[in-house]
Amino acid sequence: MAKNGFTTTIVHSDRRASVEHGAIHKPMHPSSEYAFADSRELAAVFQGKAGFTYARQGTPTTAALESKISQMEGAAGTVSFATGMAALAATFFTLLKAGDHLISSQHIFGNTNSLLGTLADLGVSVTMVDATDERNVAAAWRPETRMVFTESLANPGTQIADLAGIGQWCKEKNLVYVVDNTLVSPLLCKTKEVGATLIVNSLSKHIGGHGNALGGAVTDTGLYDWSHYPNIAEPYRKGSPTSWGLTQIKKKGLRDMGGTLSSEAAHRLAVGAETLSLRMHKICANALALAQALAQHPKVAKVHYPGMPDHPQHERARQLFGGLFGGLMGIELADDIDVFDFLNRLKVLALATHLGDNRTLVLPMAHTIYYEMGPERRALMGISDNFLRVSIGIEDAQDLIGDFNQALA
Ligand SMILES: *Cc1c(COP(=O)(O)O)cnc(C)c1O
Repeated sequence: MAKNGFTTTIVHSDRRASVEHGAIHKPMHPSSEYAFADSRELAAVFQGKAGFTYARQGTPTTAALESKISQMEGAAGTVSFATGMAALAATFFTLLKAGDHLISSQHIFGNTNSLLGTLADLGVSVTMVDATDERNVAAAWRPETRMVFTESLANPGTQIADLAGIGQWCKEKNLVYVVDNTLVSPLLCKTKEVGATLIVNSLSKHIGGHGNALGGAVTDTGLYDWSHYPNIAEPYRKGSPTSWGLTQIKKKGLRDMGGTLSSEAAHRLAVGAETLSLRMHKICANALALAQALAQHPKVAKVHYPGMPDHPQHERARQLFGGLFGGLMGIELADDIDVFDFLNRLKVLALATHLGDNRTLVLPMAHTIYYEMGPERRALMGISDNFLRVSIGIEDAQDLIGDFNQALA
């Protein structure tokens, strides 16, 4: 059969895996444990054969969602987690050891930044670099470097890392290359094509899309030969070496750490995933229309959006994201506007801290997520008191533009 497109593949994914009774959705399996009619089969599944034993290591419902994520990323395999943070924690903690070195982009999600601090406390050295230029990543290399981490689009500054350049360099150096693809989603960024080893997605954001379930996933592109990686434990050095890394993440990440996705959440996320392409096209069109309108507005000092020609990585975004530019925007209001009064005048946008939702959400960064770090560090990061993070939703574009206009008037 000819390879189907993105949405056709996802909406028919469960059915093609022959669900019981012809159900078009994989059912929600709430069982904690799975019983076996044959003791030899029970032993085989415990010893590595595909199957289910105890729901901390996954259920048929989470497996059906994992298959959809793998198909979206064109990748070899996926393990799901309770949240995006659980997926990231499992990746770092199961693959890195004290004495190892990690190179990370400095433009990363705040909670991931905090997680890397915890990792450093446990003896992994972490170097943060400006990953919009591959040379900064290469300059940080040490003999103990094991892994490079970046996001495909950074929140809230919308910087875009040199994904392809870093991928090429990691390949030469035989390093594990981890890309958090959450903010553009697998629809926009074909992360396997830039040479990523592992792709992390917070399913809570665009993939679920409806703000009604949390989840995360780690996907192995199948490009990396894990026999080069020193930290794979002996029991997982079995079968094709391209699968060893994900086996270790699943075994240690789910079995030992237990941040498991529930079947109920997996079902909701899978239903959301069916419309990812439709929602993303609307979100990206809305975002571009709003960015263009606000860039002209006398009360707006600056718009940070990769779709605008003055964005520093505009050309890179065009090449990497298939002509779409995502739903994340940074907006700096003019100095003479009181940011709190402005926010209180909004009637359509929701004041809420989430991303990739059907609803457009807005947050004053200096007064919320970046409050703890203090004014000096905020200034270094380019976060002024009037900096708003906006996550664009699927509403009608004129309502979003109109809401800004009336609140700025
Ligand atoms: C939200 C987010 C996460 C964490 O996901 P949760 O599901 O909220 O734990 C990780 N990375 C990025 C880029 C995010 O935006």
